[in-house]
Amino acid sequence: AIEVSNLHKRFGALEVLKGVSLEARKGEVIAIIGGSGSGKSTFLRCINLLETPTSGQIMVHGETIAMKSDRAGGQVPSDRKQVERIRSRLAMVFQSFNLWQHRTVLQNVIEAPVHVLGVPKDQAIATAETLLRRVGLYEKRDTYPAFLSGGQQQRAAIARAVAVDPEVMLFDEPTSALDPELVGEVLSVIGDLAKENRTMILVTHEMKFARNVADRIVYFHGGVIEEQGTPEQIFDAPRSERLKRFIQSAH
Ligand code: ATP
Ligand code: MG
Repeated sequence: AIEVSNLHKRFGALEVLKGVSLEARKGEVIAIIGGSGSGKSTFLRCINLLETPTSGQIMVHGETIAMKSDRAGGQVPSDRKQVERIRSRLAMVFQSFNLWQHRTVLQNVIEAPVHVLGVPKDQAIATAETLLRRVGLYEKRDTYPAFLSGGQQQRAAIARAVAVDPEVMLFDEPTSALDPELVGEVLSVIGDLAKENRTMILVTHEMKFARNVADRIVYFHGGVIEEQGTPEQIFDAPRSERLKRFIQSAH
């Protein structure tokens, strides 16, 4: 479903990604772990074209994102229509629940289906109501985000992400801004999605959760994938000393 080859990203003199290659097959759930500053968010942002890679290739659903060189010596996407098309097939859920504050929960969820994908409004509402029921927010559909708890806002953001039926869902530490007592409800919603044969790449510090939902764990260090494997391989038999220390410190 998604294939990243030899991705490099540089911010000025700082090389943040130093050749990352990762393929997520259809239905695969990949959890990315790693220390602060290791490039995890930058990697997701490059996939979503929120950042432009300095070099490397990204393929989504069999389509390679066309790039051209820019003056700064990096590269930028060359086909705006393609970028829009690919973005509409990816959904990202951030650490901060970035809902549109002046729209109700339901309006947030139907926005992209109606305005980007052209789904008829009554159909989008029916789908949204089903999704909101699933994440336990049906009663809150006409509420504005400011009146929701952090956990409710994040569940609404997840419903909004799923509403476009994305090819790949990207999550960047979706629970790290939540009060501890609200983490479980959000992880449980993500865990349900993971069981549905959805392709997901998830950056998380929740090691127990990563172990339970992921097919594969990828450990980032210093802008490269230092080690990857099944949850058993990574958590029970880590090879690199650095990963061993990281796992110990994360408990
Ligand atoms: P964390 O676990 O703290 O979220 P991370 O692995 O997600 O860390 P990134 O956010 O990808 O790390 O950042 C990697 C490095 O890139 C950091 O040193 C960061 O300061 C730098 N960086 C990220 N975005 C920019 C930017 N827009 N301009 C300059 N440097 C940046
Ligand atoms: Mg990050």
